[in-house]
Formats: sequence, structure tokens, C-alpha cells
Amino acid sequence: MRILLQFPEGLKQHALAYAKTLESAGDEVIISASPTFGACDLALDEMKSIKADKLVHYGHAEFHHVDANVEYVHFSLDADLSILDKSLAHLLAYKRIGLVTTIQHIHQFEAIRRFYEEHGKEVVVGKPHGFAKKPGQILGCDVGSASRLDKEVDAFVYFGGGIFHPLGAVLQTTKPFLVVEPFRGSVEFLDNYRDIYRKKSRGKVLSSLGAKRFGIMVSTKNGQHNLNLGRLLKAKIEKQGMQAGMLIANTFDFDSLNNMLEFDAFVNTACPRIAIDDTDRLRKPLLNANELMEVLSLKQEDAKPEA
Ligand code: SF4
Repeated sequence: MRILLQFPEGLKQHALAYAKTLESAGDEVIISASPTFGACDLALDEMKSIKADKLVHYGHAEFHHVDANVEYVHFSLDADLSILDKSLAHLLAYKRIGLVTTIQHIHQFEAIRRFYEEHGKEVVVGKPHGFAKKPGQILGCDVGSASRLDKEVDAFVYFGGGIFHPLGAVLQTTKPFLVVEPFRGSVEFLDNYRDIYRKKSRGKVLSSLGAKRFGIMVSTKNGQHNLNLGRLLKAKIEKQGMQAGMLIANTFDFDSLNNMLEFDAFVNTACPRIAIDDTDRLRKPLLNANELMEVLSLKQEDAKPEA
């Protein structure tokens, strides 16, 4: 069997070793060297071009069903739970906590939950929602396991590496949000990011008010493809007498976008995190759909004749 092997960026260092285990079973293995960000980003075009019988996608759970032979290989990370002791001092004022994590730590979720319950906390766990598949799981673009608990809990606790995942949840919730990071050994509230990103978003909207030509970014990735949304936004821009161009790419390259000097602003319809995390990589404002709608409504207000 010919297998295309796809590893996410953080795990690519293990791809060759994994390829060798598959080869030893008699399979031909080709490793995708393209950037990979999630199961929203399956290497389906590469699979077709090398006529692979199967795509082995490592490290992410299924995002949504695709019409191809894809095997998802789960990757669990055993983190040291002793850091939970350190988190208790930060949670003294909070009784009901909403607990969230990533798919890599789902196997440790019950142990973490028990720890907090044994220390007098009431732990609330959100049901899987949207693209997430397990209770308490969040993705960068699906934080329903946290946001739907916002009214029920006094605070949130995220357990896992980095701030990419919890940042999405922080921006969609209002309660104190504690990040317990077992790899750096840090425990900190991320609440200040709400204000930072609100201001950033406001800044992007205001700096787009003079824009007349918008580039609408549509990705070909299986889980990020939003051509219809792109068309809808284009029509809205044009209805207000401005120009919009539809831009297509698999992974958007910011140097290339920066070369597209005709555009005054860009509108992202791909991974929702692009317009949050990557705005500083573009010289022009990079808006999400909601921010564009805000720009259009402010422009309309401006255009109204004074009473
Ligand atoms: S956050 Fe973006 S890259 Fe991650 S799974 Fe969602 S769409 Fe894909």
C-alpha cells in the first residue's frame, strides 16, 4: 500500500521514525513536507497527486468527514500533574470551575478533574461542540466546551501546552481564565488578553475605514474552505460601491499578500485564528468577517447625509 504520512508542525521531528515502522510492514511511505496546522488541513491534493491508497494523519482527531481513506493517529502527551498543586493558590476565590484541555491530554482529564474535586472544587465539563469530539476538549477554532459554561462557572482552568488553544477560549468567555502549563511549569491568568485583542480589533476596524479595495482570502484546506462566505462578503462590499477580489491559496503566504499592493485591507474566511494571531504579519489590516461587517456599517453611517 502507498501511504502519505502527514505530521503537524510540532511533531514533524518524529515523521521519519514513524515512516520506518510503516515501511517495515511492507508499505511505501511518502512524508508530506507541507505545513500542517490541524485535521482541517488534510493533504488531500498531495494524496491525489501521488495516488496514495491512504493518508495517515498524525496528532489530530477527525475534524469533519472527508471522502477519502484517512486514518487519524492519536497522539497523547503525558504531562506531569504535580503542577496542579501550584494552581490551587490561584483558585482560592473560585468554587465552580470549568475545566478544558486539548485532545493530547484528554486521557489525563479524569485525573485532573478528580484532583480539583478532592480539593473542594466543583468541576463543570462542557459537552463536545462543533469540531471538538470529547467532553472538555477545545480547539483553536472551537471553544464551545468553555464558552457555553461561561454563565455557570466562577473561573476556567485550561490544562496543556502553550497559549494558542486557551487564547481562543479566553476571547470567547468573560470569567477569570487560568492556564496551567505543565511543560513550562507556569500557572497564570490570561485575562489581560481580552483587552489587548479588543483594542487590536478596534484598531483594525478603524484603520480600514478608508479602504476601498478588499482582498478576500479563501483557503482550499478541507476544513477551512468558505467560498460561499467569501462570495457573500464580496457582494456586501460591492453593494457599498467598493471593490473586492477573491484570493485563493492553500496556506496563505504573508509575503505574497504583502506584495498585493492594490488591496487596502484583507478579509479572512479561512482558519478563524489567522485574523487574530497573524495580523502583525501583514502591512494592511487583516479583518475577520465580523470586523468587516463593522467596517461596512461604520462606512454606511459616515455616508448618511446629516439630518
Ligand atoms: S484553529 Fe485553525 S488550524 Fe486549528 S483546527 Fe481550527 S481551523 Fe484548523
